[in-house]
Amino acid sequence: MERGQTVAVVGESGSGKSTLARVITGLLPPRSGEILFLTELLPPALAQRSKQQLRKVQMIYQLPDVALNPRQSVRDVIGRPLSFYLGLRGKERERRIIELLEQIELSEHYIDRLPDELSGGEKQRICIARALAAEPELIICDEVTSALDTIVAKAILDLLQRLQQELRLTYLFISHNLDTVASIADQVVVLYAGRVAEKGSKSAVFQPPFHPYTRLLLSSVPEMRQGWLEETLSTREAKAGIAREVKITERGCPFAERCPVAIPDICENNRPPLQTQASGHVLACQHTPEILLK
Ligand code: SF4
Repeated sequence: MERGQTVAVVGESGSGKSTLARVITGLLPPRSGEILFLTELLPPALAQRSKQQLRKVQMIYQLPDVALNPRQSVRDVIGRPLSFYLGLRGKERERRIIELLEQIELSEHYIDRLPDELSGGEKQRICIARALAAEPELIICDEVTSALDTIVAKAILDLLQRLQQELRLTYLFISHNLDTVASIADQVVVLYAGRVAEKGSKSAVFQPPFHPYTRLLLSSVPEMRQGWLEETLSTREAKAGIAREVKITERGCPFAERCPVAIPDICENNRPPLQTQASGHVLACQHTPEILLK
């Protein structure tokens, strides 16, 4: 990931998006591999990470209702990381809470409110302020707009983009919604069954040659509506008569059972080679980009 950029991770349920986020934040240990953050390796488990390592990677969740304790006021929610990570107390802490409220475009009058007294969009703003309070370098946004209506979701995306520019934040943006991804991402990673099917700049991933799975994702007009992806896939699968669930497999290409251009005997038995093009665009497929283009 490049500093100050947004990498979007896209794929349907079961593709491994949230698992990836949990591994990066230390909530799950990686089965293999390492997490390199700036120049240091992050210990796999949360408990082994230093306070500074924890501070630098923050997360914003899909459901602000669940992410906020109903008995904690805005002051408590935003104030806690200020005390824990930065040791702020008293007036200094209060001043910083108000500053953070301004950054998320809420007035200081919100400081004593409880989550029940906030709208869905305001709650998500408070979750953003809580993440910012730690002064992170990377924020993982896990489906942060999928529980919000279209207009509120757009306002949250605009806010995240403004904050990114002002604070040079890096986002790992997990989303089902290709419209959201198209509006916010610099780089896109398409995951399928825990493996990278395709990755590259937004313009490279969203124009031919497509990976066969990306092509399937893009085959519907994206809408800012939760569940459209699953609905599209279920319709197409029903037509094509192919298996619905994402199967995790060690052997071959995990997409082979559903792939309309699978090569018999080759795709189900051999891992697809990673084909890197000059632009840095990577496709994991047995077909060459020239063939996929056709
Ligand atoms: S490797 Fe084979 S099954 Fe997998 S996407 Fe490419 S053509 Fe389809």
